[in-house]
This record gives sequence, C-alpha cells and structure tokens, in this order.
Amino acid sequence: MFDLIIIGIGPAGLMASIYASRYKLNNLLIGEVLAGELSKGAKIENLPGFISTSGLEWGEKMKEQVEKLGAKVIYDRVGRIEKLKIKNEKLKITAFLVKTEAGKEYKAKTLIVATGSERRKLNIPGEKDYLGKGVSYCTTCDIPFFRNKMVTMIGGSDSAVSGAVHAAEFTKKVYIIYRRDQLRAEPVWIEEWREIEKKGKGETVYGTNITEILGDGNKVTGVKLDKTYNGKDKLDLDGVFIEVGGVPGTSLLKPLGINLTETGYVQVNDAMETNLPGLYAAGDITDKSIVLVQAITAMAQGAIGAASAYKYLKGEKAPQILGV
Ligand code: NAP
Repeated sequence: MFDLIIIGIGPAGLMASIYASRYKLNNLLIGEVLAGELSKGAKIENLPGFISTSGLEWGEKMKEQVEKLGAKVIYDRVGRIEKLKIKNEKLKITAFLVKTEAGKEYKAKTLIVATGSERRKLNIPGEKDYLGKGVSYCTTCDIPFFRNKMVTMIGGSDSAVSGAVHAAEFTKKVYIIYRRDQLRAEPVWIEEWREIEKKGKGETVYGTNITEILGDGNKVTGVKLDKTYNGKDKLDLDGVFIEVGGVPGTSLLKPLGINLTETGYVQVNDAMETNLPGLYAAGDITDKSIVLVQAITAMAQGAIGAASAYKYLKGEKAPQILGV
C-alpha cells in the first residue's frame, strides 16, 4: 500500500512526487510519456534555472531527481481506478486500487491524477487514415522524418507556431494554416516565425481551415482548403502537423463520479482536492489550469496536491501552512 500514487509523469506529476518525498510519503509514479506535453517542446526557455532546454532533457533530469528522493517511476498506462474500503478508524479513508494496461495492480491511500490533456483532433476525412503516414500530433517527435519536405502546421497558438519554428530547421518549407487572421502565440515565437517567413522558408495561410487530408493510399500528398489560396483549394504537402490544443484527459475519473466542469476539466479547490476525499488532481486536467496553461503552473498544482495528500493522511484539515 503506497501512501500516494501519482498518475501522470508530466510537470504536475513529477513535481508532486518531489514534494511527496520530502513529506516522506511513500509514492509511486505511473505514466507513459516522461515530461508529458512538455516532452514536445524542442526549445524551452521559460523554466526557472534553465536558460534553454528541451522537454525530453528536462524530463530526464526530473526523473533522476524524483528517483533520488526515493520515488519509483513506472512506464505504463492506467486503465482503471477503483475505490477500496480500508480499515482505519482514525481517518475513515477510502483507498484506491490502480489497474494498469500491463496488467499490474497497485494500492494507495491517496491519489494525485495529473494525466494532462489529450491532443484535440480535427475529425476530418483522411486524418485517421494517414496518421503515422504524414499526419502527426507531435511536431517535435516526428519532424526529423520530414527533412527537406513540405509540411504544414494546423493551429495558430503556441504549439503550432513553436512547432513551425522548430520544423523550419528540418524542412524545405513550412506552412501554418490558421482559421483566424492573426496568430495568437507568444510574441517571442511570432518574432522567430516572421524571420523564417522573411527567408521564404515559412508561409502563413490565414482565415482558412483544412477540410480533408489527401493522400495516395500510402502517404499524405496534401490538404484540401475551405477557401482558395493562390488560386487553388489544395496545397501539396508531405506532412500535416495538427497542433490545435488538447482536451483534458479525464476518462479515468468519470467512472468515480468526480465532478467535472461543462468543458470537461476536473473541478478542484485551492488545495487541489476533488469531490472524492483522498483523490487530488493537478495540471492541465484541472479547471484551475486554464488561467495559464504552462508547466510552471502545473508544477505548482502538483506541489499543492502533494501537501494536501500529506495533510489528509495526517488527519489534518487543509489548508494549513506546512514547514519545510
Ligand atoms: P491552444 O493554445 O489551445 O490553441 C489551439 C489552437 O488550435 C488555436 O489557435 C485554435 O484556434 C486552434 N484550433 C482549435 N481547434 C481547432 C479546429 N477544430 N480547427 C482549426 N483550428 C483549431 O493549444 P496549444 O497551442 O497546443 O497550447 C496549449 C497550451 O500550452 C497553451 O496554453 C499554450 O500557451 C501552452 N504552450 C506554451 C508553449 C510555450 O512555448 N510557452 C508552447 C506550447 C504550448 P483559435 O485561436 O481560433 O482558438
């Protein structure tokens, strides 16, 4: 029986573990993608203490740190969470059984669910058919396969524009196809993108959606546009990177009756408590995250969740300032 199982090994989960270990909670992390969404960041320059790093490098460092502090990291996907009644007269707490897709089962007195978000799909013809054959939801992961090719990003926020900037290092030309008339990524990304456009290596197609991903049966050959661009309603391409944000990954929590907002985020209070005692949520799945969807805010939520789990296990009532 662990004191705490943390589901998710992105910024929120990893930071929750650091705090949990400092509170001497016997904690286990289970997740699939080290660094979570941050793993897709090729160049990260807004993490304290790192002038420039990549999501993967940062993830490795964090894993080293959590393990050094005594936690165990397991790469697996949690398929189900069940509530268990345990005998503890003092706390009258519910424990949890965590079942993974690899067929393993783990028990814990508390849980922090930090499963982040799942990539949003466009749900257009060709998207599923050409996934892995030119369609990708992760620019950083897949762009090296598109050396000297023609690709497009779909979307106009940070993932699309930072993805386009990264893609330009590899490809012959990168487009951004965006449904509005002004990109809304951080100014630093837009500035870099403008430089790429000036060199003729990038082009933004504004006010346009793609309606179909075209292919020859084996690979992507282009996209169909909902309005003409340079006189054509098609664009010839080798790769389509769909960077249109994410939706909170709450499928594990629905069967437990956890309260969600109308838009699908987990409702948490300032202590990261959900409506189920002993179960906390942190990071991109929470309704608190939407104020600023960044690693730093996810990490703060993870730390708070761990502190709350500690207080709960001690039978204290959150919030209470804890010493270090
Ligand atoms: P996001 O900020 O939610 O933006 C999604 C983009 O996709 C928007 O431009 C949106 O258009 C577009 N979009 C959504 N649904 C679409 C559809 N069905 N068809 C066409 N376009 C669609 O997602 P994100 O860029 O993945 O970023 C997620 C969060 O991570 C953000 O808070 C972002 O700031 C953060 N992030 C930060 C960095 C960084 O370098 N600091 C890097 C990556 C991500 P509209 O603009 O019209 O809504």
